[in-house]
Amino acid sequence: MSIESVRKWYPKALTSIDTVNRLLDTIEKHLELKPNQLMHADSMCCDDVNAIQYPPRAYEMLGPFHLGGLDGFPFAGLTGMGAFAHHVPEDGAVIIFYAPHIGITKEGQIGEISRIGQSSNSACCGAAKGALGKLAAGQIIEGNITSLDFQMNTIEQIFLHSKERILNAENQIFEATEVMYEAIDERIEVLVKETEYPCKYVILVGGIFINGDKDMGSFCQYKKFEYINLETKERKSLMDEYHK
Ligand SMILES: [Zn+2]
Repeated sequence: MSIESVRKWYPKALTSIDTVNRLLDTIEKHLELKPNQLMHADSMCCDDVNAIQYPPRAYEMLGPFHLGGLDGFPFAGLTGMGAFAHHVPEDGAVIIFYAPHIGITKEGQIGEISRIGQSSNSACCGAAKGALGKLAAGQIIEGNITSLDFQMNTIEQIFLHSKERILNAENQIFEATEVMYEAIDERIEVLVKETEYPCKYVILVGGIFINGDKDMGSFCQYKKFEYINLETKERKSLMDEYHK
């Protein structure tokens, strides 16, 4: 069965449908906000499979504003974050969901999926796998970032800076995805700090987005679910409430 093959790698993963239901229920219960009071931005890979497997209930929120480029890094930067921040209802919250993605097949193969109309599996995330291949072959040059392939080059540099950790890992694409999550999380925190939000709360939700085969749907394991009260500056995790 599909969720079992996902949970071998991500023990707390839920289907995307359950993930969004729990997310919205937790926010409504603890912050008393309805989906239409939430301005939603996501930072996810531009891979078409993420559009196909995007959980429908997420559209009950306003948005999404897309901050992400390849493998979910927030390439829209300060300008994207600032623009989105000013679209929020005044009595509401901004919610930022960010995640690198990874494919897991029914058979438990990690880093690939079976896509609609294709007879063999393909890489997922293709950018992460491409960068990993170059890392293993020693082809990434320190500081090489070009305008022709800016996003890919950025991912390559992120991997290069964790070269030993990734190449010595038991599973390299799993580890590379963890490295990617940490880089995205770090960047999102900086962007949030540098941005003014004319509302009550900022909600940060970080995780790993897991794509299944074409007939499996998608899954998500959260790593962070926190809110910042913009008046009191109090910051609180809702992870326990989410997993209840
Ligand atoms: Zn991707």
